[in-house]
Amino acid sequence: MDFDIKDKSLAEAGAHRISWAARDMPVLRKIAEDFAREKPLKGIRMSACLHVTTETANLMKALKAGGADVYLCASNPLSTQDDVAASLVVNDGIPVFAIKGEDNDTYYRHIRAVLDIKPHVTMDDGADLVSTLHSHYPEWVKEMIGGTEETTTGVIRLKSMAQKGVLGFPVVAVNDSQTKHLFDNRYGTGQSTLDGIMRATNRLFAGSTVVVAGYGWCGRGIARRAQGMGARVIVTEIDPIKALEAVMDGYSVAPMKEAAKLGDFFITVTGNINVVGAEAFDAMKDGAIVCNSGHFNVELNLPYLESISKERSILRDFVEEFVTRDGRRIMVLGEGRLINLASAEGHPAQVMDMSFANQALGAKYLVQNRKTLEKTVVRLPEAVDQDIAALKLAALGVKIETLTEEQKDYLASWEMGT
Ligand code: NAD
Ligand code: SAH
Repeated sequence: MDFDIKDKSLAEAGAHRISWAARDMPVLRKIAEDFAREKPLKGIRMSACLHVTTETANLMKALKAGGADVYLCASNPLSTQDDVAASLVVNDGIPVFAIKGEDNDTYYRHIRAVLDIKPHVTMDDGADLVSTLHSHYPEWVKEMIGGTEETTTGVIRLKSMAQKGVLGFPVVAVNDSQTKHLFDNRYGTGQSTLDGIMRATNRLFAGSTVVVAGYGWCGRGIARRAQGMGARVIVTEIDPIKALEAVMDGYSVAPMKEAAKLGDFFITVTGNINVVGAEAFDAMKDGAIVCNSGHFNVELNLPYLESISKERSILRDFVEEFVTRDGRRIMVLGEGRLINLASAEGHPAQVMDMSFANQALGAKYLVQNRKTLEKTVVRLPEAVDQDIAALKLAALGVKIETLTEEQKDYLASWEMGT
């Protein structure tokens, strides 16, 4: 079996951590049991490009139980957990191509390695597989069943490909399921981003000023948790409705160039480019800490920071200090890459359970509906979303109401007035 990982001897440690995560993934476990019985992915070659974490390992095992022949590479050069990669190779016979801290060339070599199997189905987090397939293997695209996409920015890119008429197969937008973005993006990113900053810096949030760029699903989660830890939160936004929501949620809202003068911590979660740009780096205080938990490190204009700096040094793991020519010290965490996956372990298993239930059912949906799906971005049916939520509630021991016949009639009627 071909693979490329850091060290096979880490497999045992990885296996323990994978089982620990599995305890909190009851929905995925139920899907894996169904998959093992029904084999909905029998004979399907799958290339997956996801963060190589304990939660992803449980998803890979579920896909394999469903009959898929699955190959895995990393969706980010810094997020791989090397013990997990080792355990998947040694204990599960799943080929993995991922090493934490790999350089850009290795990252793309690994992407090509998982694509070399000529997949029927891809599973992406950021659309790297789909874009590489379309630009380098156009002949294969025509023969594929489809793909799934995990994250907001990936879905935006795929929708743009579909709009331009270049998307060659259907893609299930996992992020568009409510059981994904409402929980993963908000509670997952909210907690794991602060966890990443704390592990990297060991700094206190209480009494500090945290600037959160972007008040979407991720931004809402981060702002609420930072406030809960005693920080003053300033939100920056470009969308008037989101900005108004932030105001009414009790935060200050300001343009980045104003917020830049006040922030102790800066966290970007926009999926956009140069959100902390030249003006912001020029205005920041001595000691400011800057990180990104959105898409790629382009959210921060790091080339500009480099250009105004006279020195740079690594102070701690994941903390790089830039000393500007005017003497200010600005700290960038995790090379500006996703801080929750670089210095922490990403989202906890409880939320990845639902995200990855959508991934597994998304792959099954593609295979089952291969004859009818159009070459565009699709959502999983509402009923699947509802089922995942119902399974999660059951696992949590939470019961809810069911509509009575009388209530159904009432809700469907128009005759009954005041
Ligand atoms: P979203 O679309 O709900 O929110 C993004 C927000 O950023 C929007 O409200 C938008 O108006 C705002 N924005 C855009 N440009 C801006 C700018 N220049 N300044 C200020 N605000 C700006 O998206 P989301 O689901 O919150 O995801 C945000 C990013 O985080 C995406 O790139 C997504 O892929 C990524 N993501 C990361 C994780 C993680 O684990 N770190 C988890 C989920 C999503
Ligand atoms: N590939 C890009 C895209 C953003 S990653 C990049 O790495 O720069 C954001 C996604 O990471 C989220 O949608 C979330 O579902 C996923 N994620 C967060 N925690 C994770 C975990 N513990 N395991 C696997 N994926 C995780």
